[in-house]
Amino acid sequence: MVTKQQVLQWLQAVVVVLEQNKDYLTQLDAAIGDADHGINMNRGFQKVASQLPTLVDKDISNIFKAVSINLISSIGGSSGPLYGTLFLRASTAVAGKQELTAEDLAALLRAAVEGVVQRGKANLKDKTMLDALSPAADACGQAVTAGCSTLEALQQAVLAAEEGMKNTIPLVAKKGRASYLGERSIGHQDPGATSSYLILKTLLETVEEPLT
Ligand code: ADP
Ligand code: MG
Repeated sequence: MVTKQQVLQWLQAVVVVLEQNKDYLTQLDAAIGDADHGINMNRGFQKVASQLPTLVDKDISNIFKAVSINLISSIGGSSGPLYGTLFLRASTAVAGKQELTAEDLAALLRAAVEGVVQRGKANLKDKTMLDALSPAADACGQAVTAGCSTLEALQQAVLAAEEGMKNTIPLVAKKGRASYLGERSIGHQDPGATSSYLILKTLLETVEEPLT
C-alpha cells in the first residue's frame, strides 16, 4: 500500500532529486536537444513544492491534479504538457483514493503511459520518456498479476525503467527536438527517459523507507 502521506513525501523527494539532477538532465539535453530539460523539470517541481503545503488535505487524485496544473503552467518545453498529461491521467485513474494498492499503482502507470502516448504520439523506441515509462508500466502490471506486493511491483517497475532508459542510448530519436539530429542522436541517453526513471526510482525509495 502507498499512503497519501507517502505520495506527499515522494513529491517532496522528487523536488530534491530534480534539483540535484538539474545539471545532469540539462547536459543530456545539451547533447541532443536544447539544454533545458533539467531547468524545465526543476522549475516545474519547484512550483509543485510551493503548492505542496496546500495539498495535505486533498486526496491522492486531487494532489496529482494539482501537480499536473503546476507543471503545465510553469514548464515551457514539451516536457510540461507531457508530464502534465501524465499526472492528469494518473489523477483520473485514482479518483477519490487516500491510499494506493499495487493494483491501483499498475492502473495509474498504465493510464499515465496512455496519456503520454496520446499527447506526444510517440511510439516505443522513438527515444523518449515513453521508453522508460512503458516498460515500467508493463513490469508493474505483470508483477501485480503474479501476486507481488506493492514494493515488489515497484521494484520491477524501476528495474524496467532503468533498462528502458539505458536502451535509449543506441536509438535514433524520432520525436521532439532530438529528432532533428537524426542519426547523430545515436549514442546519447534520452533526457526525458532519464527524468522518468528518476521520478519512479524516488517513489520506490519513498516506499522502501520505514514509516517515521
Ligand atoms: P523540449 O524538447 O521542448 O526542450 P524538454 O527538453 O524539457 O523539452 O524535454 C525533452 C524530452 O521530452 C525528451 O528527452 C523526450 O523524452 C521527451 N519528449 C519530447 N517529445 C516527446 C513526444 N512527442 N512524446 C514523448 N516524449 C517526448
Ligand atoms: Mg529541451
